[in-house]
Amino acid sequence: MKTAPINADLHCHSVVSDGTLEPEAVAARAHANGVELWALTDHDEVGGQQRARTAALALGMPYLNGTEISVSFADTTVHIVGLGFDPDDAALKAGLAATRGGRRERALEMADGLAKAGIPDTFDGALQYVGNPELISRTHFARFLVDTGVCDDTHDVFRRFLVEGKPGFVPHRWATLRNAVTWITEAGGLAVVAHPARYRFTPTEEYALFTEFKAHGGAGVEVVTGSHSASDAARYAETALEFDLFASRGSDFHSPDESHTDLGTLPPLPAKLKPVWAALETRVHRPG
Ligand code: AMP
Ligand code: MN
Ligand code: MN
Ligand code: MN
Repeated sequence: MKTAPINADLHCHSVVSDGTLEPEAVAARAHANGVELWALTDHDEVGGQQRARTAALALGMPYLNGTEISVSFADTTVHIVGLGFDPDDAALKAGLAATRGGRRERALEMADGLAKAGIPDTFDGALQYVGNPELISRTHFARFLVDTGVCDDTHDVFRRFLVEGKPGFVPHRWATLRNAVTWITEAGGLAVVAHPARYRFTPTEEYALFTEFKAHGGAGVEVVTGSHSASDAARYAETALEFDLFASRGSDFHSPDESHTDLGTLPPLPAKLKPVWAALETRVHRPG
């Protein structure tokens, strides 16, 4: 008998980074939507892991520790999801703290750029939306510009103000690919390339990304995720096979008001792929 694929959602955010819900509320929403294996993956942070895990287990929902690390690779920001690591690992915690450092200075520079474009006071404005003062992000600026009527929605803010070449964009140096993968792996977890269709790499750059990722010990790739179309998923299913990577699935949910993909609602992984959770059996926290 063939068993149904489990409803795993291994990518989402809370107020500990740039989501709008508390970790407990994200857990409740995942559970209500039928998620059977969950990971909260706040950007560059593990500060919400204990709350997320406790809430998940109280709901009877198996849990994997998670994070999403910002990496600079080939002049592009790449996100690496870590799953199933020990959140108390000292090197991982130090690495994440170093990666978070500089966000405040970057945000002040972003606000300068926006002020020159005629939009004043965005640093203090964005700060009102921040749950974790170490994690001020472009998302918080976007929310402020929507709520003050400068733009219609957050995508509009990014397009007009927050991407390369626009007045609020400030290039930033994040973690190296090698460090991010090593921190996750040495803490007992698996590293996964997040939403690869978003990077707009040339084929050569993309090949280099996956080759170096593998060489550093990277293990997986997100195939089914909120920002992937069906054809993106089909394409990165082939990448998973070509590079012998486990496949992951996660909504990248941030907010009930902004995220187009809700927790637990994605299509299943293509059956020909090895799910990353099959390699993380011993790392899953189970209720009871
Ligand atoms: P940061 O880490 O400060 O560079 O912010 C990156 C975050 O901005 C991502 O994790 C997304 O949550 C959000 N983001 C990036 N691009 C867009 C976009 N085009 N529309 C809406 N949100 C976006
Ligand atoms: Mn985000
Ligand atoms: Mn991301
Ligand atoms: Mn994300």
